[in-house]
Amino acid sequence: MIYFDYTATTPINDEVLETYIKTQKNFFANANSYHKLGQMSNYMYEKATNELKNEMGLNKYKVIYTSNATEANNLAIFGVVDAYEKGKVITTKIEHPSVFEVFKSLESRGFEVVYLDVDNNGVIDLNQLKNEMTKDVILVSIMWVNNIIGSIQPIKKVIEIVKEFPKAKLHVDIVQGICKIKANFDFNKIDLLTFSGHKIYAPKGIGALIVKEEINLEKRIYGSQSQYGIKPGTFDLALIVALCKAVKIFMPKVEEHYSYVEKLNNKLRDSLKNSSKYVINSPLNASPYIFNISCNNIKGETLLHYLEDSKIYVSTGSACSSKLQKPERTILAITNSEALATAAVRISLSHLTTFDEIEKLIKVLEKM
Ligand code: PMP
Repeated sequence: MIYFDYTATTPINDEVLETYIKTQKNFFANANSYHKLGQMSNYMYEKATNELKNEMGLNKYKVIYTSNATEANNLAIFGVVDAYEKGKVITTKIEHPSVFEVFKSLESRGFEVVYLDVDNNGVIDLNQLKNEMTKDVILVSIMWVNNIIGSIQPIKKVIEIVKEFPKAKLHVDIVQGICKIKANFDFNKIDLLTFSGHKIYAPKGIGALIVKEEINLEKRIYGSQSQYGIKPGTFDLALIVALCKAVKIFMPKVEEHYSYVEKLNNKLRDSLKNSSKYVINSPLNASPYIFNISCNNIKGETLLHYLEDSKIYVSTGSACSSKLQKPERTILAITNSEALATAAVRISLSHLTTFDEIEKLIKVLEKM
């Protein structure tokens, strides 16, 4: 079996799993209980959260643990926008559905929504953002790394533009960037950050919404005061500690893993760049972890199953929307071609991927 779908999810890391099991066994008490056992769980919760913040270099932030990034994105965006009855909000045409669909819902509620265009490299136009920034903008939500083609947005410049408008909050979905790419911007300059454990070798069922201390989010779920009342209810301490452990393991390895994965990606790109069968959809300066191609006149799903016959596992589009079988939104935005967008297949890599696996993939792709 050769797995090339690390963007959809990753296998759990052994050390992270061990941390999860140990915490689950030894700290089962509710961290909100006042007795000693509960306080021990609370201590572990605080410790893990502080370690996570230290690893990310965050100063004055609240960390709200969620079930995944979808929930974190929803709570972040609605948490800001629900305080207003109308106003302007800005996002891009290539966001993950857990952001894009939230903006669609805001549109139906009467908010003025701007979906920024992207060029054929999948990157926004900063001048368009500048032109759209007005005093009535409430929220700007722009992903760091696109999950379909791996394009990287100029977040550093976005921060500079948005900070001129104090009313506007900036949300960045860092799901495909964290623990994979070294940020050339300061997380402390972003109002709301969201990510997910299962993309970084932590368990499924855990994500995080990290928000500046001074921002009071509107509630979407009502209950106790646990987790600032934004995600109330009893949390699973073991999932939280495991998530923080994964960040602690993988954040310091970002550069080492990046340069290895870049070599794998280059090998794949070199083998396909002159092919008459394949079009490479991922731009040259994209995240090396994501490599998107379209095979001429072959539906993405067909290529996926062809590869599956050789026990090679890839994705069409994002796992979340692949069942819809629509032309892939991001590919459509960069190519304007329904044919390419219907044919798109995402091959996603990891530091666990070997050169041997890449060679096997290349052979099977060539035979197609
Ligand atoms: N944002 C991005 C960029 C993603 O790639 C994903 C997962 N495909 C999500 C959000 C949603 O993550 P989750 O599966 O944890 O809800």
